[in-house]
Amino acid sequence: MYNIFIIYTGGTIGMVKDSETGTFIPFDFKLIEKNLPDLSRLNYKLTVHSFDPIIDSSNMRPSIWLEMAKIIKDNYELYDGFVILHGSDTMAYSASMLSFLLEGLQKPVIFSGSQLPIGEIRTDARENLMTALEIASAKKDGKSIIQEVCILFDNKLFRGNRSFKYNSDKFEAFRSPNYPVLAEAGIHIRYNDEVLANNEGKDFICHYHIDNRVGVLKLFPGISVETIKAVLNSDVRSIVMETFGSGNTMTDSWFLELLEGAIKSGKNILDISQCKVGSVELGRYETSQGLQCIGVLNGYDMTFETAVTKLMYLQGEIESQEEVAHWIQQSLRGELTKND
Ligand code: ASP
Repeated sequence: MYNIFIIYTGGTIGMVKDSETGTFIPFDFKLIEKNLPDLSRLNYKLTVHSFDPIIDSSNMRPSIWLEMAKIIKDNYELYDGFVILHGSDTMAYSASMLSFLLEGLQKPVIFSGSQLPIGEIRTDARENLMTALEIASAKKDGKSIIQEVCILFDNKLFRGNRSFKYNSDKFEAFRSPNYPVLAEAGIHIRYNDEVLANNEGKDFICHYHIDNRVGVLKLFPGISVETIKAVLNSDVRSIVMETFGSGNTMTDSWFLELLEGAIKSGKNILDISQCKVGSVELGRYETSQGLQCIGVLNGYDMTFETAVTKLMYLQGEIESQEEVAHWIQQSLRGELTKND
């Protein structure tokens, strides 16, 4: 019998329709148990921790990330794996953040949820939860097959810090175009062994510090000087700059001077692309060469969700801006691939 710990944070999976307003509102875990009587027939001993209150994931925040990490740390030795039921809207942010907070994992932490509530006839909740439980308990030679934080949705297992929600309409809600799918569930669950994290021999360390002083500058043709200044002058330590194509920006001297001023004042500026597939390649075009010269940092192929959460994590752990700048450009949990 496998021991699985379920952390229930909320999300559509356990929502019901309010009869008066017609909107979906979170409901407690009893609703899931009621709709899945098979749970008690399975070869799992389930322990459930429900957050109070349970939330729509649009209300996710750093204090809940830290609480989730602590629950896993406190129960780590007692369970074979962990399943986190979570709304899909911000699941990729939470999975990314947990991947950084939980270093050296040798057990699976599987995020899942659904697009339709578990009480609906055509729900995807049942498949997702059952498959997540199976993956959370899967072992080979006595060791967990999955040793990282993942997202399981619509029969696909993704590395958490490589995925993002790309579809709010289909059951196939997530993608991770810059990293292969870790496993696919059909009649059998097939693991893509070569791309799985292997943390054998590493120490499991839970980190408890987050510093959310991160800003975002999304560029678009015609963006005003005032908008750029407002972001660059805000009270943050780092700014994720979402650029064009392989990391390109306009080359106007006033723009580069503003960026350089912010960098000189001690802020980190991280270049990630607005493209969902591919990587930043600083210096490939003239339009990104100037950025390299003034010290803009390379975000390579990180997702936006990972860039933001990784900065919050690094800033929580490290005081020195130079060190944050160094580590943001390294792969810590398989979240980026370098191309230079
Ligand atoms: N709004 C919901 C949430 O993220 C959507 C979902 O669960 O899929 O909590």
